[in-house]
Amino acid sequence: MSRRILIAGNWKMNMRADSGASLAKGIVDAVGKSPAVEVVLCPPSVYLSSVADAVAGTPVELGSQNLYAAEDGAFTGEVNASMLTDVGCRFVILGHSERRQLMGETDACVAKKLHAAFAGNLVPIVCVGETLEQRESGDTESVVETQIRGSLEGLDEARAANIVIAYEPVWAIGTGKTASKEQAEAVHAFIRELLGKMFSTEVAEQIRIQYGGSVKPGNAEELLSQPNIDGALVGGASLKVDDFAGIIKAAP
Ligand code: PEP
Repeated sequence: MSRRILIAGNWKMNMRADSGASLAKGIVDAVGKSPAVEVVLCPPSVYLSSVADAVAGTPVELGSQNLYAAEDGAFTGEVNASMLTDVGCRFVILGHSERRQLMGETDACVAKKLHAAFAGNLVPIVCVGETLEQRESGDTESVVETQIRGSLEGLDEARAANIVIAYEPVWAIGTGKTASKEQAEAVHAFIRELLGKMFSTEVAEQIRIQYGGSVKPGNAEELLSQPNIDGALVGGASLKVDDFAGIIKAAP
């Protein structure tokens, strides 16, 4: 089964209207008209519209870093799936470790957002990953399994093939420490096997599993050439055209 590589840039809380639009335009130029890989930019929500304008009519797609799981109403400061689709988003990142750690997001909260994403026609990118302490105490698989089962609670097989999982070891995010290709591939293979048990082998073979954690042009090729690594969720290196374009070009 061949899965199309998905490279997503998570800008986090960075950039401004002008710098974001010129970064997006630079990526559009670097990607060209018919890239072999799928490329998504996830700017802060206030800049979604300006980045949407910059990528309009190109293969580069738009994603949000979060959503609020409710229909329109009295939810001051929040943005829902329907609004994200309205401004041109196709993807939404859910359960990023920063939101789990800083905003107290739980697996149950991520599951609620997952269903809201589907209701709003968005493709969810569900982030999971262990801390350094959990890895060192041998709990990586059980932590990742608990997060995946909890975050995908209530997801039916028909929709499951469309989700994206991002395996992001917390100790590798923004630290410059990347999981080795062997460490990453082992967890990705474990995740695929788990998805096979939760849904079916056929569905598990269709689900894209991205790696995230200090991906750079210099390590992208070896990571992306692993059999169960189907793309990258990129933080820091998505903020510079040359770095992000280098990762896109490194895809096999
Ligand atoms: C991320 O924020 O999802 C991420 C992987 O960040 P970085 O690439 O900077 O480690």
